[in-house]
Amino acid sequence: MAGEKIGFYGHVRQYHNLKDEIDHALHEVLESGTYVLGPQLKQFEEELARYAHQRHAVGVNSGTDALWLVFHAFGIGPGDEVITTSNTFFATAEAIWLVGATPVFVDIDPKTRNLDPSLLEAAISPHTKAIVPVHLYGQPADMRAVSAIAKKHNLRVIEDNAQALGARGADFTLGELSDAVCTSFIIQKNLGCFGDGGAVLTNDEALATALRRLRNHGSLKRSHHSLGFNSRLDEIHAATLRVKLRHLDAWSDARIRLARQYDGGLAGTSLQLPWTLPGYRNVFHLYVVETDERDSLQAYLDSRGITALTHYPIAIHQQESFPWGRPARIAGSLKHTERSAARVLSLPMYPELTEAEVNRVIEAIVAWDKTQAGKAQKVAR
Ligand SMILES: *Cc1c(COP(=O)(O)O)cnc(C)c1O
Repeated sequence: MAGEKIGFYGHVRQYHNLKDEIDHALHEVLESGTYVLGPQLKQFEEELARYAHQRHAVGVNSGTDALWLVFHAFGIGPGDEVITTSNTFFATAEAIWLVGATPVFVDIDPKTRNLDPSLLEAAISPHTKAIVPVHLYGQPADMRAVSAIAKKHNLRVIEDNAQALGARGADFTLGELSDAVCTSFIIQKNLGCFGDGGAVLTNDEALATALRRLRNHGSLKRSHHSLGFNSRLDEIHAATLRVKLRHLDAWSDARIRLARQYDGGLAGTSLQLPWTLPGYRNVFHLYVVETDERDSLQAYLDSRGITALTHYPIAIHQQESFPWGRPARIAGSLKHTERSAARVLSLPMYPELTEAEVNRVIEAIVAWDKTQAGKAQKVAR
């Protein structure tokens, strides 16, 4: 039985679950007459900083702006290199290019799909200024290893945490071992507003002040200290995020529960399942399986009314026209990145998804997997 469709996102369900709280918060902003750089933003920044165990949070327009404004504030620019991964959303590298610097791509660990810290040292050159680990799909990168190498070579570490707010390592919190943490609040992220938003979390007061200026035309009060940009987190988004932040831990717990359900139901299949480092809190922004027959599985699920998407089917260095006339460097082979890009499939994963719906996805995959086993036997014979 096909039943209701199972979509990829639960945004409207989430809104309906919180409708009274959110409607009330939005109404309050609308009636206040203050829509930019007001009390909602100030309070959200305090609450977010406390949540993330960081001294400062600075709200900006997007996760992309969070990244490139930090690079800009640190004086990273033309001629400088920033080491990161090619297995990420485009904006990670785009932010490096936006300040005129050169992204340097190292390969991923095929199990965690985060950058492999054992490859970092060989990728460092006299031009290297920073490392940008991405906590992909909700699992922190190995920050102990990254920060040890960064310290040894005197490099900045800027965490791209667009996908893992609320996650932590076995013995570290995000931000504890870096200069800054950049996050995004676009709706599909684990903490999302009704539009674009982002923030930088840091213990570095000078950086926080620089960012507060940069997001507002170089100005804190009256005088313009420098040129800046227009990149603020609007009151309407801050008010929404204040409501939702109170639910984030419960939502992460729900994601982890659903991931366990997938793990159990899919254990006997041919799929490669997500692998979490021991002791890490992986908040499963996405639940990403891998198979050589990815396109077949995606089409099969679609025929059963289940939407599965690909994150990301084309690694950054494989994009058409890469690198668009800009500097870029590939450090060694990216074979694990390329293999993963060809195989990944993200299954529905959001806190509002029901156990019954996950069971339906599991049943569909198990049925598809049997047809694959039949095919493999025919080939073997
Ligand atoms: C979403 C995302 C970004 C960019 O965030 P926006 O708010 O969309 O600009 C950057 N890096 C990663 C890994 C992301 O997932």
